[in-house]
Amino acid sequence: RCPSPLHCRTSIGDPRRASCKHRNPRVRNLIGGAFVESQSKDWIDVVNPATQEVVSRVPMTTDEEFKAAVNAAKGAFPHWRNTPVTARQRIMLKLQELIRRDMDKLALNITTEQGKTLKDAQGDVFRGLEIDRYITAVIVIPEVVEHACGMATLQMGEYISNVSNGIDTYSIREPLGVCAGICPFNFPAMIPLWMFPMSVTCGNTFVLKPSEKDPGASMMLAELAIEAGLPDGVLNIVHGTNDVVNNICDDDDIKAISFVGSNTAGMHIYARAAAKGKRVQSNMGAKNHAIIMPDASPDATLNSLIAAGFGAAGQRCMALSTAVFVGGSKSWEDELTRRATELKVNAGTEPGTDLGPVISRQAKDRISKLIQSGIESGARVVLDGRGIIVPGHEHGNFVGPTILADITGDMECYKEEIFGPVLLLMTADNLDEAIQIVNSNKYGNGASIFTTSGASARKFQTEIEAGQVGINVPIPVPLPFFSFTGSKASFAGDLNFYGKAGVQFNTQIKTVTQQWKDTSGQGISLAMPTSH
Ligand code: NAD
Repeated sequence: RCPSPLHCRTSIGDPRRASCKHRNPRVRNLIGGAFVESQSKDWIDVVNPATQEVVSRVPMTTDEEFKAAVNAAKGAFPHWRNTPVTARQRIMLKLQELIRRDMDKLALNITTEQGKTLKDAQGDVFRGLEIDRYITAVIVIPEVVEHACGMATLQMGEYISNVSNGIDTYSIREPLGVCAGICPFNFPAMIPLWMFPMSVTCGNTFVLKPSEKDPGASMMLAELAIEAGLPDGVLNIVHGTNDVVNNICDDDDIKAISFVGSNTAGMHIYARAAAKGKRVQSNMGAKNHAIIMPDASPDATLNSLIAAGFGAAGQRCMALSTAVFVGGSKSWEDELTRRATELKVNAGTEPGTDLGPVISRQAKDRISKLIQSGIESGARVVLDGRGIIVPGHEHGNFVGPTILADITGDMECYKEEIFGPVLLLMTADNLDEAIQIVNSNKYGNGASIFTTSGASARKFQTEIEAGQVGINVPIPVPLPFFSFTGSKASFAGDLNFYGKAGVQFNTQIKTVTQQWKDTSGQGISLAMPTSH
């Protein structure tokens, strides 16, 4: 028997797999504390991108099942909002411990459904190259949960005594009610954990919609949350695609939506949910640039470019997908290419793999088409990863590291987010010109500079139009006590994920003005009250 009642955890290479009676299991919804199988007639295959093997099947949740999940969240809210914040924090403390306990199982699930290497999923070092510890799938997980453990302090209000004669004013941050989260495929554990831990620790209840491409990590996290003591109905999970997302946007009982994914879906959700009066935070696509100054350390910079351009097969919203070489650093192209050529492309479960597959055949085709369109519009092919065959995994969705040079701003491959292992090279004569290139791009998720000059770094930090700025840091994703601050077309809304903004997003401020002095005998005054 498969060891899990929820989800088949056996994967390729596991000796239990051959005898598992639960292959291609149906992923369940979580409604009111019960893992229930959907009655839907429409199911989607979750496919291992390295093998095309069907791992499980997710339902297109029916309207009734969706409403049952919202009702469960609504029903759980009155009790949960009155549960002391210290008790809510303690559940998060336990959850982060359980996540650490099950880190390996989570990582294996992520590799099986999403494709990234086990090393990436486990936060190991990327072939001795510099890897930014914040970007790995699993390491980030407990950090946001840990942050939620300090909610009592984070959620504190403000108080001023005697704002007027005998009158005090104070503000309270109260939970909103039922909140929802809609997730992308590329970080199947990290992004759900950006969403529900902060929200429920603020006192909200939650409906989560994982990516239909890799729902397994969300299911495992929900099991852990329940094991940690999260009461029934506080966290609910529904699966599906556009219809269930539209239901989330339209439902009057849902007060706020956290979204991470593409611009097409994100702007649709932002507009549709805002029209229903909901607050929305929408983290979307990116085209992150690195500016390489000639005074930068060549070895460290080239390693950073390789790690941040090709890690997770380029499927990170903070991947560095465009390198702008300034002045003399243009000559580093050959060495960059040599290092990229050494990367090993294989299934994420294979030891020594640097890049796993991309998520789907459609993604592979789209990436290949964008490479081709770049070539046809004048890009120079430095390294072409299309057509790569991985022995033993001939059907996997592999694209090898690809480098295109002589990129110009009008090329489709530059204007579009490629979301694959493709690094675009541009050149600029000086820092001003390089900054101008970056700022002309519509996206504003992240940008980095590599330099040993404090003056260049400071100019870059001041003038660059991007939400997350790296100075000799390739993927500057902030730890959770700051916020994830993408800007321009990479974000819609005004309160970012996690950090102080995350608490503000998940709470409604209430301002109370009180007086206890006896005002009898003062008569009636119709004048607007003043502070005198
Ligand atoms: P996606 O937009 O295709 O899917 C995201 C979610 O939206 C899924 O749950 C999906 O079911 C739903 N969805 C998709 N199309 C929809 C539609 N038309 N109507 C309603 N719902 C819809 O994104 P993806 O391919 O899963 O993820 C990759 C994208 O996510 C990239 O653009 C990447 O840059 C972005 N991303 C951004 C961040 C960030 O923090 N800025 C982080 C991770 C990923």
